[in-house]
Amino acid sequence: MMTIQNYVRAQSLQQAYELLTSNRRNRIVAGMLWLRQTGGSVNTAVDLCDLGLDTMEETDDAFVIGAMTPLRKLELHPGFAAYTGGAAARALGDIVGVQFRNLATVGGSVYGRFGFSDVLTLLLALDTEVELYGAGRMPLSQFAELPQTTRDLLVRIYIKKTPGTVAYRAVRIARTDFPVLTCAASRLDGKVRLCVGARPGKATVLDLTDAAGGLTPNTVQSLAEEAAKQIPTGSNSRGSAAYRSHLVRVLAQRTLSQVGGSGNGD
Ligand SMILES: Cc1cc2nc3c(=O)[nH]c(=O)nc-3n(C[C@H](O)[C@H](O)[C@H](O)COP(=O)(O)OP(=O)(O)OC[C@H]3O[C@@H](n4cnc5c(N)ncnc54)[C@H](O)[C@@H]3O)c2cc1C
Repeated sequence: MMTIQNYVRAQSLQQAYELLTSNRRNRIVAGMLWLRQTGGSVNTAVDLCDLGLDTMEETDDAFVIGAMTPLRKLELHPGFAAYTGGAAARALGDIVGVQFRNLATVGGSVYGRFGFSDVLTLLLALDTEVELYGAGRMPLSQFAELPQTTRDLLVRIYIKKTPGTVAYRAVRIARTDFPVLTCAASRLDGKVRLCVGARPGKATVLDLTDAAGGLTPNTVQSLAEEAAKQIPTGSNSRGSAAYRSHLVRVLAQRTLSQVGGSGNGD
């Protein structure tokens, strides 16, 4: 069980950051769906709900997503759905259920950098940056590598509308369970990228710049085989390392075929 000594609805980002960094047992609370599973004792729970960060805006060149935006909003946003060609709904639609996704936030998902995260896998395949209070903007790939011990306040996420396509696939033993493997491929401005998560470790990114020339069926097959060799996998209760490596090959083949324009890979 989790216990909270004090609860504060921050009235400014500065207040939230000062509270977060003033005591190592103070925590930002978002949807609290993950946090409450972790148990332990929180000194001050800092809620960002009064800061207007639950909105998703589309500008000419980016999607700007406040940290408190529910996953469901990201899933249903028409502009984002069009930009991702349905990959967003595919990535988010099996995360537990609609009520859950109305509460779980984009910020909590990105900040958590969970190994099993569909959200992180998808966003790493896109041209995504995070905005941290104080530290400013940095690529999501850089943020994903930072140790969880740093006391960052995640404010917004920026997904640039770099021209291209993205595809997403995951395998679950049962719908709404945690995924056994997640996979996203993108071709943005001609650059091909493959992201694989739930290995069961955190999503890893392969930049396949050599493939920029063309994703023919033969190229896709050899890239998928290479990805299965290169991407480290492990075993847990949902699958063995060997099974996951097999899935890397299959899902990489499907997603790369889709972004290469040679069918949907199924
Ligand atoms: C049972 C269950 C099943 C799940 N299944 C999946 C799944 O299949 N696929 C998937 O992708 N995800 C899954 N998730 C994760 C879920 O989608 C959310 O990512 C998770 O609940 C965190 O979001 P939250 O809003 O609840 O954050 P919280 O639980 O409130 O916070 C999570 C962490 O992020 C920190 N935090 C939150 N917001 C900020 C911020 N703005 N700045 C700094 N730190 C912040 C908190 O302090 C905490 O450490 C699952 C979660 C649960 C509980």
